Amino acid sequence: MFVRARIWLLVALLLLGMASDPDPVDPITFRQVDRGNGTDIYMFNRLGCDMTVTLEFTQQLNVEGNPPFPCTKTVPGHQEILMSRVYQVNTNDAWRFRYMYYWNYGNHEARHDDSVIYSLPYAAGTTQRIIQGFHGAFSHTGDDEYAIDFGLQSNTPVLAAREGVVASVEERYSKGGAQSYFRNRVNCVRIRHSDNTIGEYDHFVYDGVTVEEGQRVNRGDLIGYSGSTGFSSGPHLHFCVYSADDGHHRHSYPIRFQVAGSSNPVELVQGSSYTAP
Ligand SMILES: [Zn+2]
Repeated sequence: MFVRARIWLLVALLLLGMASDPDPVDPITFRQVDRGNGTDIYMFNRLGCDMTVTLEFTQQLNVEGNPPFPCTKTVPGHQEILMSRVYQVNTNDAWRFRYMYYWNYGNHEARHDDSVIYSLPYAAGTTQRIIQGFHGAFSHTGDDEYAIDFGLQSNTPVLAAREGVVASVEERYSKGGAQSYFRNRVNCVRIRHSDNTIGEYDHFVYDGVTVEEGQRVNRGDLIGYSGSTGFSSGPHLHFCVYSADDGHHRHSYPIRFQVAGSSNPVELVQGSSYTAP
């Protein structure tokens, strides 16, 4: 009896452990206000970073949007905006519509300042290897085309590569793996730069982020400790700078870094190692 009780206690503890990682929540929620001969569609962004949303009709009978669909807008952090006012075109005719909304991270009006040279996101004098570079076949395609994976071991200090304001933080996840289940279950820090692009740092250890949303950071400031949470096959730091195209896509920027032993900024190459000056 005692043994069985202990087994049940163990099972309960295991279940508690498994339940400790939260389910991801969509950053964007919508609200509709009916106006009799039309409907206003609002989008709310629960995160601190800019989100870009696109509305598209999936059914459209005697209605138009103002602005017209497909309609793309950036929703600033923690704000609700009026996306579009859908209205009945011919007042005597029946009207109906359905729509879908799509969201992506970033601001769709931001353009990267290519004169910016980035700092390696680890301590001066330390050396790290690039385990996946631009266009890396494993996962650096599409939205993440110009992402870089630095081979940081778990619990290595991660430093800001460029100054900005912390736009959003996630550090509640404890697990990772190379299954799509983990794609949106990642501990990360997003920093908004002065050109409104976002620098995203991924895979921090559980509870391993040391900055708060809204905090201004300088390059070289500690922002957390690397790990392997989210879509990841082993400990590393994924870093990517991007802005949104629309609710479906964003695009990343090919950025250059200052490294020890070179007076000119360099594009980091997969398989090579670089020392932070
Ligand atoms: Zn990566």
